[in-house]
Amino acid sequence: MKQKEILLSSLLKDKSISLSQQNADEIGNDHLFTGAETPMKKDAFVLSEEEKIKKIAANFTEIMDTLGLDLNDDSLKGTPLRVAKMYVKEIFSGLDPNQKPDAALFENNYKYDQMLVEKDISFYSNCEHHFVPIFGKAHVAYISSGKVIGLSKLNRIVQYFAKRPQVQERLTVQIAQELQQVLNTKDVAVIIDARHLCVSSRGVQDQNSATVTSFYDGKFKEEVTKKELFSYLGMKTEY
Ligand code: ZN
Repeated sequence: MKQKEILLSSLLKDKSISLSQQNADEIGNDHLFTGAETPMKKDAFVLSEEEKIKKIAANFTEIMDTLGLDLNDDSLKGTPLRVAKMYVKEIFSGLDPNQKPDAALFENNYKYDQMLVEKDISFYSNCEHHFVPIFGKAHVAYISSGKVIGLSKLNRIVQYFAKRPQVQERLTVQIAQELQQVLNTKDVAVIIDARHLCVSSRGVQDQNSATVTSFYDGKFKEEVTKKELFSYLGMKTEY
């Protein structure tokens, strides 16, 4: 499997690289990203969920109609509403901050102060440049600062940020920064290994490539800690 490494540290220093309009196509085609925050409008939550679903269904009807599809067909006529509900309530539900999993921490009574790794967390997301799936595995790790988090919360945090139009680099950073904040430690690592349907099913149609992104901070910047992490993940090479 060919793997492309993308290092985030340099990109992170400049959270909002400003872009001219003529670069926008190039950025979309090359799957670059512009900052750690998902770019949202100020009025993103003025409409209710139901109003959004209604509006998206009407717009998706237009798209299907423009493509020449017959919306009177029994198989197609429910599609606009189905797509709208899926966008708002499922695959893009992570745009709504109210959906963010509340991360209750537990006292670390057993004084566990070693590395904790939750590996192979499956996720499904969508490329924000083409609106087609990105899917793969996330591995997250942290070293407890005195409190611990329920293991299922780690999965839920990954799922929450995946349920947005995304680029893989931003997904990696958003998960890592959330974990740092929730766990009150810099000692966090996130590795994401994913496939992009916009690369495999269209465009260059590369069936075999996968993209690996990583975030290491605190003790995970030290070689010895990274090596321990890689040994748990069964990785022979460095990311
Ligand atoms: Zn794409």
